[in-house]
Amino acid sequence: MTSSAIREILKITQRPEVISFAGGLPAPELFPLAEIREATEKVYADHGPAALQYSTTEGHLPLRTWIADRGGLAPDQVQITSGSQQGLDLLGRVLIDPGDVMLVESPTYLGALQAFAPYRPRFVEVITDDDGVVPEALEDQLRTTPAKLIYLVPTFQNPTGRTLSVERRRQLLEITKRHGVTILEDGPYNELRFRGERVPTLFELALADGTPVDDLNVIMLGTFSKVLAPGLRDAWVQGPRPVIDKLVMAKQAADLHSPTLNQLIVTELLDDVLPRQIKIISAEYGKRAAVMINSIAENFPPGVACTDPDGGMFCWVQLPTDAGIDTEPMLAAAVDRNVAYVPGRPFFASGIGHNTMRLSYVTSTEQEIRAGIEALGAVIEDQLVG
Ligand code: PMP
Repeated sequence: MTSSAIREILKITQRPEVISFAGGLPAPELFPLAEIREATEKVYADHGPAALQYSTTEGHLPLRTWIADRGGLAPDQVQITSGSQQGLDLLGRVLIDPGDVMLVESPTYLGALQAFAPYRPRFVEVITDDDGVVPEALEDQLRTTPAKLIYLVPTFQNPTGRTLSVERRRQLLEITKRHGVTILEDGPYNELRFRGERVPTLFELALADGTPVDDLNVIMLGTFSKVLAPGLRDAWVQGPRPVIDKLVMAKQAADLHSPTLNQLIVTELLDDVLPRQIKIISAEYGKRAAVMINSIAENFPPGVACTDPDGGMFCWVQLPTDAGIDTEPMLAAAVDRNVAYVPGRPFFASGIGHNTMRLSYVTSTEQEIRAGIEALGAVIEDQLVG
């Protein structure tokens, strides 16, 4: 394991005068503080000391039942985890043998690379474009490089904000099935759509043809982090029983169970607060995204490309490759002008992407977004000229 240099630089961006688009955090002013306080009181009244006692490794049954009912599963096909980050780690522990080929998007979620890396897979990047993974490229790769697993964030991806089209989802399911590849579908942003039509998850599409859950080649991760609050560390993995059974053993060894109190609180919030929060958060993120995308169009030099997400928290900027700009050293110049972003390179398993960066639009006000993007435009301009 190595410590991340970028993490060190980003510590500087905690200074209040810096407008930071670097964070991966949800907007804290939208957390349902009062509702969580009320739910906590109700949990104490209803459960007493049991709310603070050890509980089952699989997770609180009513919570698993709610998740299972929503997805057409049985509760024993759902494992509660401490954040989906733990789900990634446990899946790595259970599924990866050293040297196994694991396909990942190019770029992909950095935290997944970090979670899987200790289990020593061989990461192989799959080519992506604006609609996500390119099925023809995947098929070509699988012909020469058989793979065990493919890790995908198909909806409002971190870091790009891109969404895999329905046609491609169907193609990917068909291709992976034929080649015996298991899909790990990570969906923390699925509910945060602010534009366009909902796209079914790979998991839902795989179930739609009548395949029993236990025979699926898709395992899905979900989380309450972006729709309630990430500090609750409440998330889940859903999939075939043989995988979930192994996850239960891995989870027991890792931390016995996820916090009892938090699971009880989340269960209280499911029917009422959760749908309301999803609406509030999506609408607000949509407004902030529009301000950022419009400011980028006005302020960034020609030749700079940016994704235009329909949901989630991030957009992805690509500087012209022939300009030779490296966004890692450029970050220091940006911080000098009181604006910050995450350089894109760490999101690539192969270490490419020196010309890319990730911007979050959710933790700044509209005014800050305008000012920050103007400053960042000037930084890029300087680099192009200099
Ligand atoms: N997967 C992806 C794609 C993410 O962006 C994140 C959060 N940054 C996680 C998993 C982890 O989320 P949590 O552990 O809070 O559920």
